[in-house]
Amino acid sequence: MTQQANPPLLKNIRIVLVNTSHPGNIGAAARAMKNMGLSHLTLVDPKHYPSLEAISRSVGAIDILDNVTIAKDLNEAVSGCVWVAGTSARLRTIEWPILEPRECVQKSLEHIEQGDIAIVFGRENSGLTNEEMEKCNALLHIPTNPDFSSLNLAAAVQVVCYEYRMALTENKIKKHKGNKHRYDALANSTQLDGMYDHLHDALKYLGFFGTNNPDIVMRRLKGLFNRAETTQRELSIVRGICSAIQDKKRPR
Ligand code: SAH
Repeated sequence: MTQQANPPLLKNIRIVLVNTSHPGNIGAAARAMKNMGLSHLTLVDPKHYPSLEAISRSVGAIDILDNVTIAKDLNEAVSGCVWVAGTSARLRTIEWPILEPRECVQKSLEHIEQGDIAIVFGRENSGLTNEEMEKCNALLHIPTNPDFSSLNLAAAVQVVCYEYRMALTENKIKKHKGNKHRYDALANSTQLDGMYDHLHDALKYLGFFGTNNPDIVMRRLKGLFNRAETTQRELSIVRGICSAIQDKKRPR
C-alpha cells in the first residue's frame, strides 16, 4: 500500500472544539488532524489558550495551531457551514438522527461541494449542551464499550478524521462521488439563524406560543429544519410566510 496525497476536500472540513479545558487536548487534536491531512481547527472560547502544553502535545502539528480560528460561540464557529454534526458519548433521546462515524462522514460528504462541513466536539466534563446541539444536523456517536463510552477528546477527533481520510482517498471502495441529485443550494447555518429569528418573531406576533415555552417550540422546529436539510429556496418560502404574517394587522 502506498501513501496517498492529502485529498483536497479535507480542507472543507472544520473540526470545532467547544470550551476545551485542557490545552493538551487541543494539541493532541491538532496532531490527530494533521496525521489525517485535515487543517481547519476552530476553538470556541477555550479555557487556556494559547498554551505551551498545547504546542508540546501537538508535536509537529504547530502549523495547525498557528492557523487556528478562535470563535466566541458555536454560532460564530459554524457560520457559513452547510452541514454540522455534534459528537456525543451519550445517546440522547431527542431530535437528532444518531450516526456512526462512517455513515456520518458519508452523509456529510453529500453536501461538501456546497460549502464547509463542521464536526463539533464538546467539553471534557460535560460534552455539548442541547442548545449547541440545535445547531447540528446529526449526532455522531462512536460506538464503544457500553460501560465505558466516553473517549478522550483527541481520540474522538482521531476517529472522525481517519474516517474522512478514508472516505476521500482515491481507490477506496466507497469513495465519495459528489451529490449529483441536489440542484438547489442548501441554506447555511447563518441563513438558518436569520430564518429562526424571523419565524420566532412572526409566531410571537401571531400569538402562537400561548402558554407554551417559545424556546421548546423553537427547539423542535430547529430539529425539523435540520433533519430536512433545508434549501435556500425553501428557506425563502418560510421567510415569505413570516413576512406575510407580520404584514397582517392584528384583529382588534
Ligand atoms: N462526560 C461527557 C463526555 C465528554 S468527552 C459527556 O457525557 O458528554 C469529550 C468529548 O469527546 C465529547 O463531548 C465528544 O465530543 C467526544 N466524545 C467522547 N466520546 C465519544 C463517543 N463515544 N462518541 C462521540 N464523541 C465522543
